[in-house]
Amino acid sequence: MTNHLAEALGLTRTDRAERIFAEIADGRRYTYGEVDAVSNRFAAALLAMGVAPGDRVAVQVDKSIEALMLYLGAVRAGAVFLPLNTAYTPNEVAFFIEDAEPALVVCRPAAAEALAPVATRAGARLETMGVWAADGADHGTLFRHIPDEAGPVMVARGPDDLAAILYTSGTTGRSKGAMLSHDNLASNALTLVDYWRFTAADRLIHALPIYHTHGLFVASNVTLVAGGSLIWMAKFDLDAVIEALPGATAMMGVPTFYTRLLTDPRLTPERCETMRLFVAGSAPLLAETHRQFEAATGHAILERYGMTEASMITSNPYDGARRAGTVGHPLPGVALRVRDTENGAPMGAGEIGMLEVRGPNVFKGYWKLPEKTAEELSPEGWFVTGDLATIGADGYVQIVGRGKDLIISGGFNVYPKEVEGEIDRLDSVVESAVIGVPHPDFGEGVVAVVVPEAGAPRDPEAITAALAERIAKFKQPKRVIFVDALPRNTMGKVQKKALREEHAALFGA
Ligand code: AMP
Repeated sequence: MTNHLAEALGLTRTDRAERIFAEIADGRRYTYGEVDAVSNRFAAALLAMGVAPGDRVAVQVDKSIEALMLYLGAVRAGAVFLPLNTAYTPNEVAFFIEDAEPALVVCRPAAAEALAPVATRAGARLETMGVWAADGADHGTLFRHIPDEAGPVMVARGPDDLAAILYTSGTTGRSKGAMLSHDNLASNALTLVDYWRFTAADRLIHALPIYHTHGLFVASNVTLVAGGSLIWMAKFDLDAVIEALPGATAMMGVPTFYTRLLTDPRLTPERCETMRLFVAGSAPLLAETHRQFEAATGHAILERYGMTEASMITSNPYDGARRAGTVGHPLPGVALRVRDTENGAPMGAGEIGMLEVRGPNVFKGYWKLPEKTAEELSPEGWFVTGDLATIGADGYVQIVGRGKDLIISGGFNVYPKEVEGEIDRLDSVVESAVIGVPHPDFGEGVVAVVVPEAGAPRDPEAITAALAERIAKFKQPKRVIFVDALPRNTMGKVQKKALREEHAALFGA
């Protein structure tokens, strides 16, 4: 048996050893030959530290190309890679370590003291990893274990063996560990390379974090499969991205990347001349952003939809119409269905219901949560995404929002996205979030949290008056609250749970 994912990613291919895999902001160039050699040395170190096939390697470190090599090393060693959001506090990380029982925890040097007792309690070894630089300084204990040379390491793993556990972002509840197999990741990367036409000629701007499926799997795995190169950035920095555009061919980003780019007058069609593809996902892209970006650059952003548990699920077409406000069609090999949230009946074209997905991309279940897994993943392989959606007669999928964000006011369903869409089209508004909070008469009352345009009057009545003609009474906000910015997590998702908590007492229920 070979190592299924390492093979798909072409980690040991010799025909492209000289080619550039990553151009790093510090000036270094990583060739494919180095990817093979360095990931192999990381794999050798993991084995030497006693990491056995199937063992979890939990990693909370700053983004660096070496951290990506640690991921690839874990794949080669047959381990299960478990990346953690760098924003989590040691207290939160403690939960993940206790839950996942890793053999090895790799953390930032500054977090070692706080995490040492947690690792000890869980029986895990603790090593630290900073951002490596050629300055002779100490960049953490892990590097001391990396041999200068190592014989080839490639632990055999089949398609169904686990390659990674990614904890869900927990925007609607407790974080759960999604178990992803070698084939979940390999099949999705192969599909996307075809669908989005990635080749060895691509140069992809990589400014996403690598603890999340988008930056770790979509951007990195796709580039490895295609043999292209990454313009590797520690984070999204507006100036750096603007400067990288000439000569780049593609970018993958969360919607906030695009709204920030739009604030810069240097974003012009000329600057984007070598670009062939801008991809957005992980949170809804405002239709307005789509239009503004096309006006500024001549490029229609390709919006796609996916999630931790199923990697990429749908995508707008490469050649056909990229429709603003939709996430396109199911990817090849991926099946979708929309069902009634109450009785599971199939919904017709254009009707809103719970979106379910089946395909080689769908995960193996939640780590140590067989009951939760059984609730959301049917024996036939249908996974209940938790997203409400419609599929139009033309086959385009529209995500209406998380099921848990659905508001039930006076017995009527209110879909926040519909109300947000009506508010966002007002000239005085940048964006909005519509939530339901406890209400003594209605069960839940509709509340709109609105970010006004700079200098626009903050007049709740102007908003409610504008909506009065457009949407049914039960959908209209009972209260409008103005804020300077919506609370977002690092992937750009609006934190509706936090908003609901903040305004829970608004109606005194
Ligand atoms: P995560 O598991 O953190 O990647 O979050 C997945 C969730 O993000 C999905 O279930 C959707 O609710 C949301 N999401 C991802 N991509 C999109 C998109 N293009 N449009 C709307 N929501 C999206």
